[in-house]
Amino acid sequence: MADLYGEIVVIGAGPAGLSAALAAAQSGKSVLLLDDNPHPGGQIWRAGPAVELPVLARRYRQAVAAQKNIRWLHGCKVVALCGTRRLLYEDAQHCGVIEYRRLILCCGARELLLPFPGWTLPGVTGAGGLQAQIKQGLDVRGQRVAIAGSGPLLLAVADTVRRSGGRVVLLAEQAPLRRTARFVGELWRWPGKLRQSVRLVNARYRGDSRVLAAHGESRLDSIEVQEHGRVRRLACDRLACGYGLVPNIELALLLGCRIEQQAVAVNAQQQSSVAHIYAAGECTGVGGSELALAEGAIAGYAASGAPTPMRALRVREHWQRFATAVTTTFRLDPSLKSLATAQTVLCRCEDVMLGQVAGQADWRSAKLASRCGMGACQGKVCATAARYLFDWPLPPPRAPLTPARIETLLCCMARESDV
Ligand SMILES: Cc1cc2nc3c(=O)[nH]c(=O)nc-3n(C[C@H](O)[C@H](O)[C@H](O)COP(=O)(O)OP(=O)(O)OC[C@H]3O[C@@H](n4cnc5c(N)ncnc54)[C@H](O)[C@@H]3O)c2cc1C
Repeated sequence: MADLYGEIVVIGAGPAGLSAALAAAQSGKSVLLLDDNPHPGGQIWRAGPAVELPVLARRYRQAVAAQKNIRWLHGCKVVALCGTRRLLYEDAQHCGVIEYRRLILCCGARELLLPFPGWTLPGVTGAGGLQAQIKQGLDVRGQRVAIAGSGPLLLAVADTVRRSGGRVVLLAEQAPLRRTARFVGELWRWPGKLRQSVRLVNARYRGDSRVLAAHGESRLDSIEVQEHGRVRRLACDRLACGYGLVPNIELALLLGCRIEQQAVAVNAQQQSSVAHIYAAGECTGVGGSELALAEGAIAGYAASGAPTPMRALRVREHWQRFATAVTTTFRLDPSLKSLATAQTVLCRCEDVMLGQVAGQADWRSAKLASRCGMGACQGKVCATAARYLFDWPLPPPRAPLTPARIETLLCCMARESDV
């Protein structure tokens, strides 16, 4: 067992967490920054053999490494609470308790995967999921890749596929073209994004389109696509399909933080409803890396008791407007709720069909009636999809947040009996 202490503990080392740790460290207080990935950077700056990190990402990583009072723990995840201001963690070898005075949650977001017939076939992944796999070294050279779902991430994924030697055969966006065109027309307010959108233009882009089904015997060989009401079949080797992002709020829920609109609620200082807990980045609402960096800095200064620089507040406001524009443009069409049939798998870990839980009142009753959510992902995929499909309320939080070793859970019990 290895117990740890940080005056300020930051969970998550994506843009928000890196920025929060750096700002908090200016106070001279001890900062502990931990993330379950092997390298800092979160989703957008995910390191891997096939990645050349952007200059900004390298700058943040170097700045954090150079700061003597920041301790960086990689491959380390928080799995539960273990008393007041104490978190239970584990890494590949160790487990223990982390004590803190102030906590900054920078847990990011994950993809919303909506079930449709064939979505569990090998060759079908999330959109960001495929991107993460390519960054880790997946070879897509010469493969025909269809990308579908919603949001600007689809364009970034198409670009990654193209630069990795894959052939993008379709980019199906569910939002209507007139809405995305209006969004592009507003991009002059964020010149960097305008340049990015020009760079990412893709001839295979189709608005008002969605994948109805994926087909194949033992792996994907084709998809059925609906474009402006017309249905066609398209041969492909991979389908990357994601319907935007949902904030990771499970740890915040365990800690008793108030949740609003499915995200951690914070005030102007990024302080949550629990006074010593702050939150920043996409766990407080999806808005992109620029907003995450600004919010992280504000949270870091506030948690360390320092005044917030006016510039950070202005930058946050600028990118909040962008986040609102993205949310409005890419809001999901309610008809997506009927993509799956009663025979479509909802919980892929435990093979539970949608029809097995469709009549239930909430996630808890669904779990009592079936094995859904009891597999390796602990409902991260299926509970999130079910919440969207059935408008169920947020389920009460449950520990451990991810599967953990028995030794880790015993470690917490031993600690609690010491107190
Ligand atoms: C799969 C995926 C791919 C994406 N790719 C792109 C892209 O290419 N381009 C782009 O512009 N945007 C991309 N995004 C959007 C991107 O997430 C944000 O713009 C940005 O990274 C948000 O920063 P953040 O710091 O809020 O969260 P993140 O970058 O998501 O960082 C959060 C970090 O917290 C860690 N974490 C969470 N809970 C725990 C815990 N309990 N214990 C330990 N660690 C924890 C996570 O592993 C993660 O590393 C992607 C999103 C996803 C989900």
